[in-house]
Amino acid sequence: MSRFWSQAVHGLTPYVPGEQPRIAGLIKLNTNECPYAPSLRVLQAIRDAAGEDLRLYPDPEATQLREAIAAHHGLKPDQVFVGNGSDEVLAHAFMALFRQDKPLLMPDIGYSFYPVYAQLYGIQTRSVPLDAQLRLRVQDLLDAGANGGIVLANPNAPTGIALPLEDIEHLLRGNPDSAVLVDEAYVDFGAQSAAELIERHPQLLVVRTLSKARALAGLRVGYALGQAELIEGLVRVKDSFNSYPLDRLALAGAVAAMQDDTWFAHTRSRIVASREQLAGQLGELGFEVLPSSANFVFARHARHDAAGLAAALRERRILVRHFRRPERIAQFLRISIGTEAQCEALVQALRGIVQAAGAGLGE
Ligand SMILES: *Cc1c(COP(=O)(O)O)cnc(C)c1O
Repeated sequence: MSRFWSQAVHGLTPYVPGEQPRIAGLIKLNTNECPYAPSLRVLQAIRDAAGEDLRLYPDPEATQLREAIAAHHGLKPDQVFVGNGSDEVLAHAFMALFRQDKPLLMPDIGYSFYPVYAQLYGIQTRSVPLDAQLRLRVQDLLDAGANGGIVLANPNAPTGIALPLEDIEHLLRGNPDSAVLVDEAYVDFGAQSAAELIERHPQLLVVRTLSKARALAGLRVGYALGQAELIEGLVRVKDSFNSYPLDRLALAGAVAAMQDDTWFAHTRSRIVASREQLAGQLGELGFEVLPSSANFVFARHARHDAAGLAAALRERRILVRHFRRPERIAQFLRISIGTEAQCEALVQALRGIVQAAGAGLGE
């Protein structure tokens, strides 16, 4: 606290990212990073870019990268916006689209950065509860009254549950007059992208990241897809904030990542296979596992407190994510999908914890 802070800073409640501790031998399943190394083509492209050109500013328009992303999605480069991680893309989108007279709608359980941006930009919000199965019903959003925009993650975070494309389309048809942001950070692990709806829906902005399915959380690259007029709004914010959000190394690596379809297909199917196996094993241990279309599972145990389980795993050097709030999800653990060996170690550890406690209870 400093008396030199502006009034606005006193009122902020910042986002708290998952821990990045330095513990030897740690199995880190708490922030949904990819457990596998990025494509070798990405690493080579970054090495090639690490030369004397670093004295020069990068391309402020990131033309080559926007071309590569547009080609991947069958869109035009002016329908692509890039930023320093999708978190930055989201921030600019909130500023560009959601500062309206009417409230921004969002599910009551979702990515916890959304309320933080809303607070930063003075955007009024209204949250729409997920149903008893922690599913989002888009009709509930449509019934929530007049809005200045809608934001949701698909698949949702931290539940991992995906909406089918028909639901997104239903939402767009029923809500033509304010921007709809669909955050697709996890879409590549089993959900359908709304990118194909962009042509017909000028209010749709799809946000994606290279952090999860491209194994590049450390490079900080995210992007948005939408009709050119919508994208132009984000560019105006970006050029009023930082003309060069992506450095030369990030640009080079991201272009190579978008072009390596082989690595991408292989890695994501490996993670999806591990997820399905892990979900089955957790079920056998007495967990209820929500149906996940993401690179994590969200699970609770009928007889074991989530905070206690997270602490017991931590003693065994396995880190998972536990959210104390909202209350409704306080008994769940969010567990990122690790390598096959890491998943196996997790199951072993949980078996030990659950069975030891069961023996203690005389079960
Ligand atoms: C991880 C995540 C992001 C942020 O990704 P970065 O590109 O690393 O900033 C955005 N939205 C959701 C739902 C996420 O889980």
